[in-house]
Amino acid sequence: MEVIGISKEEKLIIAQAEKDREDGVLSEEKCQSILESAAELKSDALFGVGYFYFAEYYYFHSSLDNSMHWLNECVKRFTATRQTEYLARTYNLMGMAAGDMGNRLGALNYFYISLRYTANTDFYYTRARSYSNLGVVFMQMRKYADAAEEFHRALKYFDENNGHQAGHITDSIVMLGICNALSGNFKGAVEMYDKAGKVTEMYPGARYSKLTKQVLEATVRFIQGDFIGARLISLSDKVLKPSPEHERELINMIIPAIDLLIQADRESSISWVLANLSDRQIESNPEVFLTLYPYIGKQYVENGQFEKYREGTARYLDIYEEHTRTGLQMTARILEMSGEIKSMERKQERLKFHNSTLRNIAYYDSMTELPNRAYLNEYLSEKFEEAKLNGKSLGIELMDIDKFKKYNDTYGHLQGDECIIAVGRELKKYASEDVFCARYGGDEFMVVYTDADPECIREIACGIRDDVRKLEIITEEGHVTNVTLSQGVFIKIPADDEHEWDFSSKADVCLYESKKAGRDHITINIKDEEKEIF
Ligand code: GH3
Ligand code: MG
Repeated sequence: MEVIGISKEEKLIIAQAEKDREDGVLSEEKCQSILESAAELKSDALFGVGYFYFAEYYYFHSSLDNSMHWLNECVKRFTATRQTEYLARTYNLMGMAAGDMGNRLGALNYFYISLRYTANTDFYYTRARSYSNLGVVFMQMRKYADAAEEFHRALKYFDENNGHQAGHITDSIVMLGICNALSGNFKGAVEMYDKAGKVTEMYPGARYSKLTKQVLEATVRFIQGDFIGARLISLSDKVLKPSPEHERELINMIIPAIDLLIQADRESSISWVLANLSDRQIESNPEVFLTLYPYIGKQYVENGQFEKYREGTARYLDIYEEHTRTGLQMTARILEMSGEIKSMERKQERLKFHNSTLRNIAYYDSMTELPNRAYLNEYLSEKFEEAKLNGKSLGIELMDIDKFKKYNDTYGHLQGDECIIAVGRELKKYASEDVFCARYGGDEFMVVYTDADPECIREIACGIRDDVRKLEIITEEGHVTNVTLSQGVFIKIPADDEHEWDFSSKADVCLYESKKAGRDHITINIKDEEKEIF
């Protein structure tokens, strides 16, 4: 994580904390020791980091108020020190805490702010986490298609090769699968089920949510028409009576589970759910309460519990009104914020495109679309130094179209251009990671061979010669023109005191000798020891 304007010592402490964090949330002692270093070094950056890990510690120990308090302190410090990635992480955690406190509008705001801090940066992991957390909020709101989109985005930014992220990756895959199913994309649900299986197989030791996986399994059973199987799994003890650390996860998952069951078989599912959920589990989640209360109310009436019915219905109406209001606010905010994020991403894409266009203009020859002289110079000096360092051989081949002035005079300059383009096209066929083909200028081309033996270079040089000989360029007047090249190659392991221009001028001498030998020839100089011309 790049932090500007802080000392090496501070950076080391931050790096160490990040390394420790990879194995799980930092302990109170470790957080304390960061704050002690912060005091000693009078470092705002370290204070921020210490507070952040404290906030994380409290969050994972369900002390949400404490967590929020320290997160607010983090924002102040990180804003002052411009630690953007930590700001993004802070807002992401704030969103998680706000969501767990039941403040979904707040959560949504924080996740979007976090995303804003990750835009135009390479904080991919934090971006992925914010997207997947947004997905969870949408899921809670039963906006399954929107949630699916967010999980899909999250999966684009997680790093599948990083085992530390495997738990979050599996969660996103599983939730995407559930959202797919609940928004009618059954094929996508089954695909995600298979994919989740693969990721958990790849990282068997990684934390992943048994609970969400179970709900996905139930979803797949449901799609396959096995309603009883689906019901048994989603109502199993693990789903309904999870361990305390899974309680919050349960709240997130209970809505999809209920939606699924209701889709499968309304009446009997609802009574199952009612029989298995505690009052607290129902009442702590407005969505769950709103879904279930009509049935609960009906039971009250059937049992003659009119007082309970009156109280419950009043509460239902209050929650309904509040819920509708925040629902509307949230929808407005979602539209506004997601529009902002989308336009930011589009800007980023445009910038990337613009940069790549500029790069194309600066580094490629517009006529042949081969790398130009500027690119060649950069490439050659980099590869030359590499070859020097690793003691590997480097080959340079210069080639020049024979009697090209005459070609221009005979067929016209435009036709000459066509000829240069045609030769360039032949060259491109030989380009690879170790064979760099460029337009050197005018009717001259250069090939740089890295780590290639003379035999291989000879073969490619002959291939180019033969292909160009075979070229049949037809002019507008219907003439078929003949083109040949003269080539000069120099191959050697660069010595410490040699420069790339020593190599190119030796290749040029060879080229001259090919011209002298009657053109359409190849001259190869290997290590200044043997020279062949053919
Ligand atoms: P040689 O066999 O000795 O190479 O004879 P040559 O006529 O090819 O001589 P030279 O390589 O020195 O001439 C290159 C000519 O290529 C000169 C210039 O008019 C022409 N030329 C350079 N760039 C372009 C171009 O972009 N398009 C066209 N049509 N001609 C070009
Ligand atoms: Mg020429």
